[in-house]
Amino acid sequence: MAERTLRGARLGGQSFEDERGIEFAARQQVGYRCDQSHEFEITMSVEADVPAVWECPRCGAEGLSISGIVKEQKAEKPVRTHWDMLLERRSEKELEDILKERLDLLRGGEIGPAHLHRANARKRKASA
Ligand SMILES: [Zn+2]
Repeated sequence: MAERTLRGARLGGQSFEDERGIEFAARQQVGYRCDQSHEFEITMSVEADVPAVWECPRCGAEGLSISGIVKEQKAEKPVRTHWDMLLERRSEKELEDILKERLDLLRGGEIGPAHLHRANARKRKASA
């Protein structure tokens, strides 16, 4: 097993180092199964942090561990909403003022959907 593993590393069949005395890391076979029911095993060091999923070599789908390794639950991070981000930049009082300003513009026909612009612009022209 060790002989075969090292063969690819040799240049011209010559070994530059004496392989004796090299200790190979202990291995383990970790089994996975994808949703196409392809089962495969991956050789890993026993010291490796075994992932709960591995890409299926046959179909590329995500294979789930059949060795009992469960996906780590991501730490629950509080969701930062757009509203939270907005409040980091402006106080609610400022937002009230901006809203009022925009509503005045909208009602005055300065901003908003084009059909409202035109209607209000006509009205203004008529009253002018
Ligand atoms: Zn597969």
